[in-house]
Amino acid sequence: MGRASPLVIDVSGLSDQNPLLKVTTAFSPRGWVELPPGVSWPGDSALRVEATVVREPAGFHVEGEVHGEAEAECTRCLAPFPWKLALPLIAEFRPRKGGSAPRDAPDEEGVYPVQDEEIDLLPAVNEAVLLAFPMQLLCREECAGLCPECGQNLNEGRCRCSVEMPSDPRWSGLAEAWRRKQAGERRAGERAETKSRG
Ligand SMILES: [Zn+2]
Ligand SMILES: [Zn+2]
Repeated sequence: MGRASPLVIDVSGLSDQNPLLKVTTAFSPRGWVELPPGVSWPGDSALRVEATVVREPAGFHVEGEVHGEAEAECTRCLAPFPWKLALPLIAEFRPRKGGSAPRDAPDEEGVYPVQDEEIDLLPAVNEAVLLAFPMQLLCREECAGLCPECGQNLNEGRCRCSVEMPSDPRWSGLAEAWRRKQAGERRAGERAETKSRG
């Protein structure tokens, strides 16, 4: 067993007469809620969960929303940008018949166990968050990306590669040398920058 989940809810107070429980909570998702590659939780991030737990004959039904903000890296231009999360959260909780599998393993898709009159919303939140990310994360729909020659971020302006490169085949050797020189200068510049920062 690891640390106790920050989203364990005591449902022992719910009965047929008193079937509803409103849950509003915020927690630091770092180390708790997984993100796809290229996305991370900023150090001070908080994930807010607002949900209603309803007692039903078979168990508990949870419906609500998850709000937060992650930091994503644009697939095209590699620039970091905030990724706002506003997701529906829907999950069913059922008493588990026999066995003592870990609480965070869903019995079937979207169905999680009730254990010791407690339910853990964390696995359902994890699933909702992971499903929210598309394959391509773009800082904006029309992101121009990076120049494949010099690495310039084309959202910030055109580079000189396409504009001033000699196109006459007799000059191609020169063009190649020029490209290498440009690339070399850029690397040197990056090294200098790294040094001055460190
Ligand atoms: Zn971009
Ligand atoms: Zn370029």
